[in-house]
Amino acid sequence: MASTNRFDGFTVVDFPPSTGSPPETPGGYVYVFCWIRDGDESAFYVGQTKRLAGRMNDYYLAQFAACTDFRVGEAVRYLRDSKKCRIVVRYKASTEMRKDEYGLIRELHLSGVRLMNDFSSYDYRTADETEERAAVQRFCDVIISKSEFWNVGEIGDHPSEPHKIEGLVDKGRSILRVTNHDRFFEAFREHANLEYSTAEIGNKVKERFPEFNLGSNRPNDHAQGNKGECPCARTDSRIFDKVKVGLYRVRPSSSR
Ligand SMILES: [Zn+2]
Repeated sequence: MASTNRFDGFTVVDFPPSTGSPPETPGGYVYVFCWIRDGDESAFYVGQTKRLAGRMNDYYLAQFAACTDFRVGEAVRYLRDSKKCRIVVRYKASTEMRKDEYGLIRELHLSGVRLMNDFSSYDYRTADETEERAAVQRFCDVIISKSEFWNVGEIGDHPSEPHKIEGLVDKGRSILRVTNHDRFFEAFREHANLEYSTAEIGNKVKERFPEFNLGSNRPNDHAQGNKGECPCARTDSRIFDKVKVGLYRVRPSSSR
């Protein structure tokens, strides 16, 4: 799946980066801000700079007089504090920063990813800070919300197949990696009608997908459903039927 290799060669750090400067480079850097939640990851801003540490500090300060600093900084705060995302920055040394930045933005756009780069800038002397903050938060709500783009009918069969995921990208879903739904689906594809406890389910997904976060092991999200459920919940596309609390039966593949 080509899309997972997009960030080959990039270093990843949590934002804000802890002290210590990135290595010296004769040119500069291209960098990408990404949010991560429940195993999903997506980019939301691409930039380039000669001074990476200083630039990160600009975003951390998020001063209104600097349009990009404010927007990216506010997005980081909102995604992290209100949406419980982990925020990471991926960066790579570059001698052709503008060209690499352009190429990265183009590649992400063509994959259906929405970026803050698309916003036209404001003039801080006439703009309203409250309004601009609200706009950033609305943007974040859109990029974080799967259900806005993800209709149940689109995940009916074999969503873990790359071409299906590409299909979701065409629908505007910002995805760089397989989702937890894809992982649950794949791990239980050949176990129809068997029953598993919540812990067994987590272990089975983890076995198949070592990067799976057991903290996000919520089989009920793909069964009866609850707050924050997967779009498959309560539909015929759901992966499990809830037998009782903590016990689930895998539905036959053909029905999901
Ligand atoms: Zn699901």
